[in-house]
Parts: sequence; structure tokens; C-alpha cells
Amino acid sequence: MLKISNLHKSYPIGDSSLHVLKGIDFEVNNGEMVAIMGSSGSGKSTLLNIIGILDEYDSGEYTLDGVAIKDLSEKKAAVYRNKFLGFIFQSFNLINYKNALENVALPLYYQGLKRKDRQEKAKFHLEKVGLLDWAHHLPSELSGGQKQRVAIARALAANPKLLMADEPTGALDTTTSYEIMEFLQQLNDEGKTILIVTHEEDIAAMCKRVIRLRDGVIMEDKIVEQVRAATAHV
Ligand code: ADP
Ligand code: MG
Repeated sequence: MLKISNLHKSYPIGDSSLHVLKGIDFEVNNGEMVAIMGSSGSGKSTLLNIIGILDEYDSGEYTLDGVAIKDLSEKKAAVYRNKFLGFIFQSFNLINYKNALENVALPLYYQGLKRKDRQEKAKFHLEKVGLLDWAHHLPSELSGGQKQRVAIARALAANPKLLMADEPTGALDTTTSYEIMEFLQQLNDEGKTILIVTHEEDIAAMCKRVIRLRDGVIMEDKIVEQVRAATAHV
């Protein structure tokens, strides 16, 4: 699915620079559910943004589904993002003035689907996250957990090969967090490859593999016995 070798990334800071990723190596295979852990500032989001083709890296190699991801034009990057990747964020990133259905339908617009097909597909995915009855509600009328479900439906609408989540439960209470994790586990059971950035141990334990970052290097990368969210104690 994806392979990263000796990846480096620095941010320019005035005349000097901040070396954030210092030689990252790992592979993710189809069907994995991987947590990327590390304290704040360890480079988790930087790494996820590079994997998500939202940011560039300085040196090393990154291939996604056999495609070398380096120095892509903005247009090509957008094509690959749309084709391969779905994103979920801590703050949901829904469009406030669009209702749940319209939010889910949006990525389908960029795939060139006709309006009717977009609506139908969006409905299908909203139903999957249990929110069909909320289709015509604005994000401001939804709870945090519901907003994140809409965001998941939106991320899934274009049928990405890889679902990426940056602190998806960071803004949610524990009960709601576990409901979201239960849903992500079900998706992974169905075969979806999932990458989750988190700094919460209980969330990481609900994945099947945990990669720990510290100061821009991988400290540990191991397979774990997955805790099922449905049976986890809040
Ligand atoms: P994490 O997600 O693990 O908290 P980040 O990847 O967001 O870490 O940040 C890693 C380091 O890079 C931090 O020190 C942060 O301040 C810095 N950083 C992140 N983004 C930028 C940027 N766009 N410009 C400069 N420094 C940045
Ligand atoms: Mg972060």
C-alpha cells in the first residue's frame, strides 16, 4: 500500500531550520490498522500530511500504491489524493453552511459524478454511519460524535484505498471516542486500510500495530493485540 524510506523533513525557521522528520522508514500493507503515536511536537502530523500528499518532504522515498510521490504538480497531487486517500481530522473540518448530505457529497463532485449519483452515494454512506435521518441538518445542529461520523462518511464516499485520521477522537469524550473507534474497526474488518495519529494509549491499543515517534525518529514499531472498542471499558 505505502512504503517510506529514509524520509526527512525540515521547516525553515528564519535563517535556520527545524529538522522534524529524521529518517523515517516503514511500510503499510493492505488491510492494516496502524496507530502513529508520539507526544505533541514529535512530528506525527507532519508525517501524516506527507503521506496524505498535503505537504512535501525534503529527501528519501515515498511510494503510494506503486506510485512515486515526489515533486508532484498541485494538479497531480489532487488527483492522487482524490483517488487514494480519505481524511478525518480532530476538528471534523466540515463545511458549516452545507448540510450533512452536501458535505458527504462534496468529494464526489471532484470525481466528476453527476448530481443524482452524488446524492445517492452520499445517502448510502450517511446511512452506513447511521445518520441518514440527519441528512438535512447543518453541522452546527449535530453533536461532536455525529459530526465525526459525517466526516467519516465524507472520507469514505470516494472509496479511498487508505483512510487517514489525525487525532480523530481528540475532541470527543471517551464514550463517543470508543463509538468512533468501533466504527473504524468495523471498516478495517471489512478490509479498509487505516492510519490513525493519536497520542492516547487507549486509542492506539484499538489498532493492530503501533508506531511510536520521538523527536522525528521511529522508536518502536510493533504488532499489538487489538482491543475491541465495543468491549472496552470507559
Ligand atoms: P505533532 O503532530 O506530533 O504534534 P507536528 O508534526 O505538528 O507534531 O510538529 C512537529 C514540529 O514541527 C513541531 O515542533 C512544530 O512546531 C513544527 N512545525 C509543524 N508545522 C510547522 C510549520 N508549518 N512551520 C514550522 N514549524 C512547524
Ligand atoms: Mg499533530
